[in-house]
Amino acid sequence: NNADEKDKVYKVGVDTTYPPFEFKEGDEYKGIDIDLINTIAKDQGFKIELSPMDFGGIIPAMQAGELDLAIAGMSITDDRKKVVDFSKPYFEAGLSLVVKKNNTEIKTIKDLKGKTVAVKKGTTGATFAQKNAKIEGFKVVQFNDSPSMFQEVSNGNADVLIEDYPVIAYAIAQKDLGLTIVGDRLNGDQYGIAVLKGENKELLDKINKGLQELKKNGKYEEIVNKYLGE
Ligand code: GLN
Repeated sequence: NNADEKDKVYKVGVDTTYPPFEFKEGDEYKGIDIDLINTIAKDQGFKIELSPMDFGGIIPAMQAGELDLAIAGMSITDDRKKVVDFSKPYFEAGLSLVVKKNNTEIKTIKDLKGKTVAVKKGTTGATFAQKNAKIEGFKVVQFNDSPSMFQEVSNGNADVLIEDYPVIAYAIAQKDLGLTIVGDRLNGDQYGIAVLKGENKELLDKINKGLQELKKNGKYEEIVNKYLGE
């Protein structure tokens, strides 16, 4: 009934550490995704509570009924559309190959024979690596979060990592990780906000309306510029 609806607090799955989309500063969660979902919720009059977790746990947690929605730099893919409904796209991304700065050997996935490729569990980067590992003859190692994956290449335990372009470009600009992006983007994709398939049509409508409103009133641009500059 209406009273329940009004008091309902939607649980929002977010990645633990995924700047500029989500990250913790002191006790506070910040980032493009965090600001977007807070602003959408305010605009559409619903309450939310953040549940930060490893990215790979988000869709399983939605399926287990532990989350109502997710905003986590999550790419819209046909595979995921089998289990979640996505909002309209809100950000353009795509995968990049990343190597140690002094590496001149690796430029494309054709250069990965015998190499070790670091990816994050449950991501489009992991799927891309798994699909190409046999064909190109490389080994895949998986991590729970992006910083651990970056670390593995920085310290030379892995040769390459695969990460979303906006995320790795931001990380490299913020801090010298000893890493560099090589070659063209491996694909193009778009981020969407996810709700469990077929069960949250009303919520999804609100999210889409809110997103549209934020694009119209300039708040979307304001949020993105706050983290990425003009
Ligand atoms: N965009 C990628 C995906 O959807 C990575 C997301 C993430 O690591 N938070 O799989």
